[in-house]
Amino acid sequence: MKKATVNQRECVACGVCVKICPRRAISIFHGICADVDEDLCIGCSKCQKACPASVIQVVQKEVAS
Ligand code: SF4
Ligand code: SF4
Repeated sequence: MKKATVNQRECVACGVCVKICPRRAISIFHGICADVDEDLCIGCSKCQKACPASVIQVVQKEVAS
């Protein structure tokens, strides 16, 4: 399944992704950078498209066995 991942070094903590995520899967960790809860993320890519800093990628993740 696809999941969003954030390049946390480049994230500017603007909060756009937090607001746009339909699953409320993203929070701003300690006010520093976005953090994705992969258990909630459905890989819809809305955050990736909305991020003004282009630091989110939605990538295929291995399914835990
Ligand atoms: S939209 Fe992009 S820059 Fe803004 S908080 Fe989310 S990941 Fe960081
Ligand atoms: S891919 Fe969709 S569900 Fe996952 S964090 Fe981004 S907006 Fe939320």
